[in-house]
Amino acid sequence: MRTKLPPMGASVLRELCQRKRLTIPDLQDLLDVSAPTMTRSVNQLIELGAISGTMKRQGGLGRPAKVLGLEPDGLACVAVSIAPRESSAALVSLTGETKDMLTLPITTETHYAEAVETTADAVRLLIGNNRGKIRALSGVGITFGGAVSFSEGRIAHTSSFPEWRGMPIASDVEAATRLQTFVDNHPVAILRAFSWFGPLTDHSRYLCFADQGVAGCVSGPGGPRPDNGLTSGAFGHVGGRDRGNRRCWCGAFDCLNTVGSLRSITTVAEEQGLVDSQARPGDIVKILEQSDEGRALLAEAGTSLVERTIDACRVLGISEYVLAGRLFEYSPTVREAASAVMSSTYGASFFGDFVSGALARDSYHLSAAAVGFDGMAESGFIEALKLPHLDTPVVNANEGVTKNV
Ligand SMILES: [Zn+2]
Repeated sequence: MRTKLPPMGASVLRELCQRKRLTIPDLQDLLDVSAPTMTRSVNQLIELGAISGTMKRQGGLGRPAKVLGLEPDGLACVAVSIAPRESSAALVSLTGETKDMLTLPITTETHYAEAVETTADAVRLLIGNNRGKIRALSGVGITFGGAVSFSEGRIAHTSSFPEWRGMPIASDVEAATRLQTFVDNHPVAILRAFSWFGPLTDHSRYLCFADQGVAGCVSGPGGPRPDNGLTSGAFGHVGGRDRGNRRCWCGAFDCLNTVGSLRSITTVAEEQGLVDSQARPGDIVKILEQSDEGRALLAEAGTSLVERTIDACRVLGISEYVLAGRLFEYSPTVREAASAVMSSTYGASFFGDFVSGALARDSYHLSAAAVGFDGMAESGFIEALKLPHLDTPVVNANEGVTKNV
């Protein structure tokens, strides 16, 4: 059942997500609202099951104050990651915990309508199988490996899923699940994850993202800034020359996409007979990590990615940057090469640092969840459980969806 969030509800949730424990006076100061409004909002969030409060005497003196925190089994998002070679869905709580996960049989060959159906089945399966583990849902958040419009919920042009161009994926999944659904491009979704789950900062950051392609974008303290001069996809073509070793489809030689992407590394590795193109990206990297030629390819990619990121950051006047994407997550050699270049610079961080202990794939789920939480903040609505249409047992409703954890 869709319910209105209380005034400042989403802001309270974001503050608690980042700062963990706060009192009502703390929240009043941070969000600049009156005591009665804040008390009312907090009480409504407690009723929804998203947060909880415990009475504590601060420093053992004076009157006890109510200390608020996120309820671990409170608010969650169904987080869907759709990428060319690996798609998955997970139930992720606002505390950043992955409660359950499914692999989705969605690839670039999958028809759009079928992908929507598979996604909806996975959403129902995850909710049905985890009753009692959550109290409320933000809805569905999708991180998509291609260009999309967050405000329209529609896929723009994408080289990986050409047949899906123009499709209103958010409203289609919403129609099938009856849960509010939001979608964003993956690198932007990672920056959204930073604004919910990442370390607090007052600075702008630059994200260098390396997966099948290479992308980069800027975020400020409040979330992504997609309007910066260097668009997410354009970063992949930084550094192109008139002549060189490899020509990119953009026309230049040796741009970042041809030296730093998983796709380009795979192409070179195939030409050298090091890997089989049918392998999954994680397996390709594992194979490359085992030979000198493979490690050389990976090291070159890591070095180029960081050098060109630092150049871009200098131009934009940004002192903090983040490296993310499957290439960094899968390859210790890429991380080492990147660290070697970074050691002489300042303010760099790996996205993986703040999801330490979690599976590499969880960064995809955290970013998808952040899309869902941002969507909830924007709509001002929350999906309170229980949802009558989800009451029917759905276990094993869809054989195509394979249980992963
Ligand atoms: Zn290019």
